[in-house]
Amino acid sequence: ATRRVPRAEHPISRSQFPSGTLKVLYGLKDAGFQAYVVGGGVRDLLAGMEPKDFDIATDARPEEIRRVFRSCRLIGRRFVIAHVRFGDEISEVTTFRGQITDSHERDETGRILSDNEYGTLESDAFRRDFTVNAMYYDIRDFSIVDFAGGLEDVKAGVVRMIGDPELRYREDPVRMLRAVRIANKLRFRIDKDTAAPIRRLAPLLREIPPARLFDEVIKLLQCRDAVANLNGLNEYGLLAQLLPQTDAALAQPQTRVFIEAALANTADRIAGEQTVSPAFLYAALLWPAVNARQKKLGGEDVVQVNAAIAQASDEVLAQSAKYIVIPKRFSVPMREIWALQPRFDMRRGGRAQRLLTHPRFRAAYDFLLLRAQAGEVPQELADWWTQAQIGEGLPPLAPVAPDG
Ligand code: ATP
Ligand code: MG
Repeated sequence: ATRRVPRAEHPISRSQFPSGTLKVLYGLKDAGFQAYVVGGGVRDLLAGMEPKDFDIATDARPEEIRRVFRSCRLIGRRFVIAHVRFGDEISEVTTFRGQITDSHERDETGRILSDNEYGTLESDAFRRDFTVNAMYYDIRDFSIVDFAGGLEDVKAGVVRMIGDPELRYREDPVRMLRAVRIANKLRFRIDKDTAAPIRRLAPLLREIPPARLFDEVIKLLQCRDAVANLNGLNEYGLLAQLLPQTDAALAQPQTRVFIEAALANTADRIAGEQTVSPAFLYAALLWPAVNARQKKLGGEDVVQVNAAIAQASDEVLAQSAKYIVIPKRFSVPMREIWALQPRFDMRRGGRAQRLLTHPRFRAAYDFLLLRAQAGEVPQELADWWTQAQIGEGLPPLAPVAPDG
């Protein structure tokens, strides 16, 4: 049953919205339209977390939104979204979407192929995935409209699908990934009925365009909750449909330690507001497969080792492309990070100096540190390269050091 919670009975205050968001809300209201903050923004505020962004829903059509704001760009063709800019703040504004009915075109697995009708506040709410994502903050009277019991679920800490979970996953299998991500982000649990079909339906992810999966994996694994998300994906059988080579690596203690160390490292960098690159992340996720293959191919000298790692890289990337497509601008640096790893073993004179000045040295060195942390190479090797960067000239080689 729909509930409208007046301002006095909920904790969200107008001052928690950025000024750009408020300008859009009032701009629409003053032009005679409905305007609400919806989705993750409302959810996160109620859960006591800082939202990433604030999405706005309205009954104004895209053309009407454009007439209200001077700086408005319409994007997308099938379902148009308006981007409204105030200063350097961009708000995403969407027109209420219509109800999904049996007459919508679906593929053989149940995935919705075309939907571009507009609708009402209510139809918009029931199109959303989880109850906690279907709460609307109304700029007219600052009340919250809760269609699906989201307020109660925030209090109880539950991620619950609106409607029949299996049907909703079939409409859009990415919702399985969102369930894991949002539960970990909020430290919520996934409701039993919402969780139950995931393992069985995980193979539906294969119907999703690989480029969309690339983005979703970034959202899952390049964030503060990356390790929890990785383990969630693994447990629900989702990782096997996304990154089967990474999934297999988790079964072995040493490669699991390496992957978890990489994700924890990424999370730390995000917490410290340092840059993180998808290339480094994907290089780590696929490294156990590359490393295993390279070892199998072997190699006696520099030339052979280089050839082996290049071949292993090609093979692993080709296999993974059946599941996820990694854009070239990332796969090129990934190959470089991998190719430089054997060169850290070659520490004499000219070779070591050249490696230090390689444009990809820094990323490759960070990668080496993770390998040392996971016990894949001796810590002494990583320390030597740390010294090599700060000292005057190369550090002495310990007598036990392996060398090429
Ligand atoms: P966050 O921004 O923290 O990642 P979010 O829930 O805001 O989480 P967005 O991708 O920004 O995620 O989506 C905004 C809103 O759009 C969601 O809260 C939800 O209401 C709706 N939504 C997004 N993706 C889907 C989907 N696949 N199916 C149904 N509704 C969705
Ligand atoms: Mg959001």
